Amino acid sequence: MAIVLLDEWHSRVNTWLNQWRVDALPENIAYLFKLVFLGEGAVGKTSLVGRYVYDSFEGDYLATIGTDIHVKMIQVEDDVLVKLVVWDIAGQDDFAQLRKAYYQNTSGAFFVFDTTRPETIERIDEWIDALFSVTGPIPLVLLENKVDLETAISKKSIKAFVDKYEVDWIRTSAKEDTNVEEAFTKMTIEILRRSRTQRRKPI
Ligand code: GDP
Ligand code: MG
Repeated sequence: MAIVLLDEWHSRVNTWLNQWRVDALPENIAYLFKLVFLGEGAVGKTSLVGRYVYDSFEGDYLATIGTDIHVKMIQVEDDVLVKLVVWDIAGQDDFAQLRKAYYQNTSGAFFVFDTTRPETIERIDEWIDALFSVTGPIPLVLLENKVDLETAISKKSIKAFVDKYEVDWIRTSAKEDTNVEEAFTKMTIEILRRSRTQRRKPI
């Protein structure tokens, strides 16, 4: 029941977002991008969003229930203002059924893994296949999070995925505020670049 309600809610937010793109963007906002976070539980997805959007870090682990949606404006060029709508869902497997509505209309995705836990990168193919089956090939950035702690994953094994998916790989710490803003900026620029080369109309 809860799953059905949440799925219905995701669909409503997507519909509302689409309307918003068409009707309600102020003149000085050129683009609106939906970003999603993928990855196993406790890798730091919620902390990365919190660091970027609110410049805060909560040390206590509170598992995300359902989905939180955050909004942040970003100025990437002198005259280009982008509204980022960041979706943060629970990474737990029980929520697998929700992912389709979660992924709809996504402009770019972060796959986050925890540098101290090698098992958090093992299922990356499943995550990316599930995403691309809904969105097609969209900009994707790998975030190796918690780099303030000692790493337990070899660079070589990460590089294999970077080459396979031809993605950027950024080493972050939500705790120490390392490369978090850079990751969002890079993502936004990449979405803009691709939307321009594909000659799609600005949203
Ligand atoms: P999520 O389940 O992927 O959303 O993970 P959370 O953001 O809830 O983080 C899980 C746990 O990891 C929390 O205790 C966070 O405080 C901690 N954490 C998140 N990012 C970092 C980081 O960059 N460094 C360290 N040391 N801990 C982090
Ligand atoms: Mg979370």
